[in-house]
Amino acid sequence: MEQQTAKPTEREKGVEKKSTLQRTPLLAGNWKMYKTVSESEALAKELKQLVAGVSGREILICPPSINLTKVSEIIMGTNICLGAQNLHWANEGAFTGELSGPMIKAAGCKYVIIGHSERRQYFGETDKIVNDKMNAALKAGLFPIVCVGETLEEREANNHFKVVERQIRDGVSNLVKEDYLKLVIAYEPVWAIGTGKTASPAQAQEMHAFIRKILSQIYNEPLAQKTRILYGGSVKPDNIDSLMSQPDIDGGLVGGASLKAADFSRIVAYQAA
Ligand code: PEP
Repeated sequence: MEQQTAKPTEREKGVEKKSTLQRTPLLAGNWKMYKTVSESEALAKELKQLVAGVSGREILICPPSINLTKVSEIIMGTNICLGAQNLHWANEGAFTGELSGPMIKAAGCKYVIIGHSERRQYFGETDKIVNDKMNAALKAGLFPIVCVGETLEEREANNHFKVVERQIRDGVSNLVKEDYLKLVIAYEPVWAIGTGKTASPAQAQEMHAFIRKILSQIYNEPLAQKTRILYGGSVKPDNIDSLMSQPDIDGGLVGGASLKAADFSRIVAYQAA
């Protein structure tokens, strides 16, 4: 009898629709070191109104830490959740100027951004520090958003896959399943952050698929298929739809455009093809 060769599944071919994969899109605003408490309050109030009718996606804002408790009061009970931009790896201690996971959690946060390229560049954060911070976040009951991404020099030298693979392997390995399921990855090519240069949807998709492949090697394929991988780097109202149409792009980490309620609410209301 003729031997039948198994046909690749839609998932193996990489064409399975995101909607069937149960990855809830996440649109996250990183306010960086912008907005005083009254300005944060005003932005959160305006955004709350503009996104009130949005469902089927998670909306996140990450104000400066000094404004977290105020913003938490404003968005309580709405479809917007709260995140911090950084945390310390220790639970508590003599670390002047730092904030711990338990403090961030108590301020009303669900998420925390870890290893943003600005923290790697200006504050010397290594993959080891990122890994320690990720573990601290999970211990505190927070969902970590771990940022990875190559510099322009690394891309031009064709080292971008190598760099991102190292950041993933050294940054997010050794998690138990329950913790792994809370992990979010943000791919942010450094050359695209705050520069107005966005990775093309094809460039971003290529790296997102690569990251998912590395995750499936470290963990396994079904777990890697559950992980949300966000794109960050000059995300704007006019490029979000094409980025979100890519099969492995599950959301955005948005800097500049998250500081304007009208722009961020349009990003949140993206329409994928
Ligand atoms: C960011 O802050 O992570 C970011 C991607 O910034 P921007 O959207 O301004 O490039």
